[in-house]
Amino acid sequence: MSSTFLTCRGVVKRFGPTVAVDGAGLEVEQGHVMALLGPSGCGKTTLLRLIAGFEAPDAGEIELDGRLLNAANTFIPPEKRRVAMVFQDFALFPHMNAGANIAFGLPRGADKRGRVAELLALVGLQGLESRLPHQLSGGQQQRVALARALASEPSVILLDEPFSNLDPSIRARVREEVKQLIHAIGITALFVTHDQEEALSVAQEVAVMMDGRVLQTGSPSQIYLHPTSRAVGEFVGNANFLAGTVRDGIVECELGQLKVNAGFEGVADVMIRAESLALSEETGTPAEVLSVEYFGHDQMLTVRLESGTLLHIRLLATPQLPPGQRVGVVVRGDVFAFPAS
Ligand code: ATP
Repeated sequence: MSSTFLTCRGVVKRFGPTVAVDGAGLEVEQGHVMALLGPSGCGKTTLLRLIAGFEAPDAGEIELDGRLLNAANTFIPPEKRRVAMVFQDFALFPHMNAGANIAFGLPRGADKRGRVAELLALVGLQGLESRLPHQLSGGQQQRVALARALASEPSVILLDEPFSNLDPSIRARVREEVKQLIHAIGITALFVTHDQEEALSVAQEVAVMMDGRVLQTGSPSQIYLHPTSRAVGEFVGNANFLAGTVRDGIVECELGQLKVNAGFEGVADVMIRAESLALSEETGTPAEVLSVEYFGHDQMLTVRLESGTLLHIRLLATPQLPPGQRVGVVVRGDVFAFPAS
């Protein structure tokens, strides 16, 4: 038994020839909000469904609050797990009003009226009890779904891509509201996303999943600033990769001899994030601007070194440089090196 609240150990799930989850391990502390981040098809939803008990693993253990939910001869059914799931499309009953949708999540015999009122207040939807789902905004529908999930007083709440169904114009605000709400309630939450910005901004901890395994878990800044593998560095943030060689704490690559904290010597994949590159007229490796993506608050330049290597450089909104402009590229931030893949 571990001291962590929710633990997955060596969880495997196959669908015929497809290995959806391939020995995934995860540890979530009580009251923490963790994001399970990874590209499409890496097994995130399957792992969530295994924790919820909607699927049975082929191997591995899942433990919640000191109780084994899945093990060699153990399978606790979903309704006995004290785990609640909020689905991507919210899964509200369209013909039931907000109050009735929330009451659906309550155990039999509960003081339904009183609890529904409490839950509506908890998610900030007082007065909207009689509205049907289509009479609520996307953000409000999500809060009804959240209240319905909380109704059963779960130990942990699982959210599958909770923000992907929301209009982009309200996504950031709803994200912030849901984050505040989950933190205020203090419930342990695990949410799935393929959106790195969402994972880094909402969660206290991020687990990066690829090919059915959890590659790295840590705080958002640990994941971003200290990726332990090229795969994690590449997936989280905007990174450039160059071939190089590490010797005595220095990596030699096309951009020069750069200080690096690599922990190994030899042939390396050098990673430099787009915001760690800058332009200098006098010094720097010669390059030509190929294209500019302008975002208002900043811009992303694509430049080509004389060797043909393409680099992305994130700069403030000025100066504006036309394609074809000759520039010099300098390194102004962290340099990472991973053993060459
Ligand atoms: P996405 O972000 O696109 O939702 P994901 O990371 O959540 O992806 P999963 O939905 O867990 O990934 O799927 C992992 C793999 O398992 C995929 O190859 C998928 O096609 C496969 N898979 C998932 N569920 C089933 C199923 N019921 N039957 C067969 N294959 C499945």
